[in-house]
Amino acid sequence: MTLTIEFSLTVDGIIEGSVAVPVVSGCVVRIEKMTEQVVRCPYCVLGNYFVPMLSRPEGWFICSKCGHSAIPEKPEFRCFCQKCGELKRAA
Ligand SMILES: [Zn+2]
Ligand SMILES: [Zn+2]
Repeated sequence: MTLTIEFSLTVDGIIEGSVAVPVVSGCVVRIEKMTEQVVRCPYCVLGNYFVPMLSRPEGWFICSKCGHSAIPEKPEFRCFCQKCGELKRAA
């Protein structure tokens, strides 16, 4: 008999990076690889964690609170939201 272990991740916004919470399904513990990426707004805090930004099908993320946007695959992307504008002026 072989033991098969599958890897899975929930995408409810609580789990980040590659950290996984085992989900017990029947007698099989499933831990799947995460395919959804959670990007959080660096400006908006909800409770004691940063607000997850909405993911766009184009591959970028936008904060529904302040309008901050980010493209994880493009670090050179410059956001033009008000908060980033203030930072640029202060620098
Ligand atoms: Zn925000
Ligand atoms: Zn911004």
